[in-house]
This record gives sequence, structure tokens and C-alpha cells, in this order.
Amino acid sequence: MKKPDDSLPYFAVFGNPISHSLSPVIHQAFAKQLGKDLRYEKIEVPIGKFHETLTEFKAAGGCGANVTLPFKQEAYKLCVQLSDAASHAHAVNTIGFDGDVLWGDNTDGMGLLNDLNRNKGIHLEGKRVLVLGAGGAAHGILPVLLKQNVSKIILVNRTLAKAQALAAHDPRIEAYDFGSVPTMVTPVDIVINATSASLQNAVPDISPNWLNNTMAIDLAYLRQRQETCFMEWAKEHGAKQVWDGIGMLVEQAAISFQRWHGVVPETKSIIEKLNRRDFSID
Ligand code: NAP
Repeated sequence: MKKPDDSLPYFAVFGNPISHSLSPVIHQAFAKQLGKDLRYEKIEVPIGKFHETLTEFKAAGGCGANVTLPFKQEAYKLCVQLSDAASHAHAVNTIGFDGDVLWGDNTDGMGLLNDLNRNKGIHLEGKRVLVLGAGGAAHGILPVLLKQNVSKIILVNRTLAKAQALAAHDPRIEAYDFGSVPTMVTPVDIVINATSASLQNAVPDISPNWLNNTMAIDLAYLRQRQETCFMEWAKEHGAKQVWDGIGMLVEQAAISFQRWHGVVPETKSIIEKLNRRDFSID
């Protein structure tokens, strides 16, 4: 692996597939805003070669990396120092090097929280939340939701055992699969779609009654259009407001940027740019 320009600090996002990633656009925009020069590349990591690729990246002068599907758990296992967020999530999406020590953080949960609080004016304390999905994203966000003192989390996943494993951590979480979740109990305030169903143009198989009068956020986002099928479906069934995952994406990237560079970028203008589906790197 060759470092593209030896004079610039070198960052990257690791994943497979990775061609769709917006991380380079976001990190270059932050860098420009703060007058920093850096390289930020996408690295498609062959399955089974995460450790090897990371070693090559460091040898090539790599300073830090984001980690996305399907390597977040592998990154977690390799990191020697873990933030509380990464320890709770059992997944790492941001890594860096402190000398030879590999550290890992998980910025997904705080990214969602910052997006809800600052960009959408939603505060979680006392709220009842329906979370769909129990994969990597759900692992990252659940500890943060619980810390915000939500009153109840109804967690529904296609594979029940994964939802049950997450529910074992806190009595406020009730776990179901799509077959066992009641058509409706007490209404919820917020619905978070943390499944990847929208990427397959599918809507999780749950009664639309749950959506009525809620605020609904799909953590997925599509490059081609602003509304996922989940957002359209949620609106159709009475959700008051719907969003995709672009706001969370930019906010979690801002926390990664802060971890590496020690400065906090402004996020609103980048969210607006991505919401216009402007993916140019200026
Ligand atoms: P993951 O670890 O692969 O988990 C996928 C989840 O989706 C699992 O719970 C899976 O259920 C469920 N699922 C997949 N297809 C489904 C379907 N057709 N119907 C119902 N459930 C289905 O992926 P992840 O990392 O958690 O990511 C989930 C979503 O969040 C993705 O769309 C990703 O792009 C998005 N995300 C966004 C951000 C952001 O910053 N906006 C950050 C992280 C992730 P099983 O467990 O039964 O397989």
C-alpha cells in the first residue's frame, strides 16, 4: 500500500463494500473548513484481511481510520485501548494510533444523539423508543439511549436471539422478533430504524400502527434520493416527522475528526450539502 502524498496526514475508511462511502467527502469538507490539509481515502479491505490491511496502513504512514461494515467487531477485538462507548457497543468505528498502541472509539451513538438534540430538537429523557434492528448500529446507539434515561426501549429484530442478548443489559429493553411483537401496546414517541432493510428497498415487517404520531428516523440513507422506503411508509402511516441517517452520519464523523485533530468541526453546512445530494469534494 502506498501513501498517496507523503507530505499530508493520511486517513481512511475501511470497509467492504466501500465505494458508496461518503466519509471522504465529509472529512475533506471538515478539513477545508478548519484550514487543514489531509488525505482521506476509501480502502476496500478483503474479507479476512482486516488486521493485515491495518498493519500496512500504519506502515504507510496512516494516522487514523474509520471502520465500517463488516469490520467493526474485528476492529474492537484488535484495539488495545477502548473508549467507554466502544466497550459498551463491542464495536469500533474510529481507530487511531498512540505510538504503537491502537485505540478505538465508537461514535455512532453520540453521533445519533447530537443529531437528535442539536439538529432535530429531540430530547430523549422519559421517551418511549421503538428500535428496529440489533446489528452493529443498534449496538452503538442503545447504550447512549439508555444513558439519556429513556423510559422504555422496544427492540425488534429479525433474529430474536440478537435482540434478547442486547435486552439482557437493561430491564428497560423489551426484545421481540417481527412475529412476536404486539400489534400495539402503549404508543411510542420515537421510532429508530437501525436495520439495513432500506438498502434492500424493504420495510421491516411491523404493524404500521406503531408509526402513528411518532418521530421516525431511518439510520440508512440513499445516495440517489432523500427519502428511503421506510421514511415514505412511516409518513403514510402517521409519523409526524421523518428523517434519514445523513445527520447522524455527519455528526458521528465530526466526533471522529475531533478525536484525531482535537478540534470540533461545524456540521450543519455539511449536512445541508449532503441533503442536497451534493457529494463534490471542493
Ligand atoms: P448490520 O450489523 O449488518 O445489521 C443489520 C440489521 O438489519 C440486523 O439487525 C438485521 O437483522 C437487520 N435486517 C437486515 N435486512 C433486514 C430486513 N429485510 N428486514 C428486517 N431486518 C433486516 O448493519 P448495521 O451496521 O447495524 O447497519 C444498519 C443500518 O444502519 C444500515 O442501513 C447502515 O447504513 C445504517 N448505519 C447508519 C449510520 C449513520 O451514521 N447514519 C451508522 C451506522 C449504520 P438480523 O440480525 O436478523 O440479520
